[in-house]
Amino acid sequence: FSREGSLADVPKDLLGEIKKLEQHLSIDTKKLKEITNHFVAELEKGLTVEGGSIPMNPTWVMEYPDGYETGTYLALDMGGTNLRVCEITLTDTKSEFDIIQSKYRMPEELKTGESEELWDYIADCLQQFLDTHHGDLAPGTMIPLGFTFSYPATQNYIDEGTLQRWTKGFDIDGVEGHNIVPMLESALKAKDVPIRVSAVINDTTGTLIASAYTDPTVKIGCIFGTGCNAAYMENCGSIPKLAHLNLPADCPMAINCEWGAFDNEHVILPRTPYDIIIDKDSPRPGQQAFEKMIAGLYLGEIFRLIMVDLHDNKDIHIFEGQDIKKLRKAYTLDASFLSAIEDDPFENLQETADLFSDKLGIATTRPELELIRRAAELIGTRAARLSACGVAAICKKKNFQPCHVGADGSVFNKYPHFKARGAQALREILDWPVKKNAKEEDPVEILAAEDGSGVGAALIAALTLKRVQAGNV
Ligand code: BGC
Ligand code: MG
Repeated sequence: FSREGSLADVPKDLLGEIKKLEQHLSIDTKKLKEITNHFVAELEKGLTVEGGSIPMNPTWVMEYPDGYETGTYLALDMGGTNLRVCEITLTDTKSEFDIIQSKYRMPEELKTGESEELWDYIADCLQQFLDTHHGDLAPGTMIPLGFTFSYPATQNYIDEGTLQRWTKGFDIDGVEGHNIVPMLESALKAKDVPIRVSAVINDTTGTLIASAYTDPTVKIGCIFGTGCNAAYMENCGSIPKLAHLNLPADCPMAINCEWGAFDNEHVILPRTPYDIIIDKDSPRPGQQAFEKMIAGLYLGEIFRLIMVDLHDNKDIHIFEGQDIKKLRKAYTLDASFLSAIEDDPFENLQETADLFSDKLGIATTRPELELIRRAAELIGTRAARLSACGVAAICKKKNFQPCHVGADGSVFNKYPHFKARGAQALREILDWPVKKNAKEEDPVEILAAEDGSGVGAALIAALTLKRVQAGNV
């Protein structure tokens, strides 16, 4: 995936800076393999009693759906960007479902506000949903809710979740270290909303289960969105930190890896000065080292930091003589900004020029536009290639080849070339032979997932109910 077009128009000093960026941001096959091998060891370590930097959280999702689950379930999806309430009906037809849903904006202020305001807002959204979609309920009825809470949480049971730490830029006091279920339930109670939380679910676990529901060859669920993470099914016998519970060794247990925390001790990932700044200025320095190089929340910010650095500190002085104050504001550019740059036809890069002038008030020259384009390509490519290391690591650890991987999230679904770049990196890491024809499947295919946070949550609620009724854990 080399760049389109040539660098013929680009002056020498600018070309020198591009070369430096290439050195900083490219990751060759050898390094990808090293990262993957270290990743395998870290996945193992996370399952031990001592633990490691990757949390490897047991989720109490202990089986795959068989496609014959039925019933109507309420699901709440609290992601990094949106809040969504869904009602999912698993129909009598195998692997089919109906869904009604409402989306609410997750107000930016809430992410760094007070805990009570957050739960209050969520309770309001749930109430509004019930008001629109439900008639009167029999007195005393409590509707069970699958709560997709996409942050690292410790669970001793499926209907509890103690937040380990906020990720994705959230920073709300008084929640870390606490079970979130009573917090939401008391907000619901205060408003007389007849809902009780029956399962706390990570979006990756939901994605794994929802994708396996329609494609039983799916073995891993991934999110490449505002944050990034994966879940897969482990055997209890391979989870030393659960040994004290004496669960049958062959009993399955979905593990929410929380792989965003990979390399928090900074021993293997080739971090650039820009990555170091992102970490230092984030609400949780030292956390989510891997995620900060990959996830949608950070891609635009990496790009912005590069641009500011090239303007301020390098001899080339891009955007010379212009006021770059808009560009100086942290997190003004999101991943969709980079997507647009990468989608722009290289011949004239008109869209890129328009974006810079409209959004940032910066006029660009052709050589600058080429530099901008190359920087975006390098950032997007690095994210995809690093993501592949995580997928390859789980496949190696579990001998999952061949398998399908269900993936969701804005970066996976919308970022140009992300899928192809990831597939290419997997090929390099796992040493697959060249395809005989374009139709031939790779041994590991990363495919667009079913809606994990909605349908997956409903399925998990159904599986939980079945287990409770059968009198199992
Ligand atoms: C969270 C994970 C989540 C991922 C994708 C990360 O920041 O820690 O729990 O699965 O984002 O949403
Ligand atoms: Mg989401």
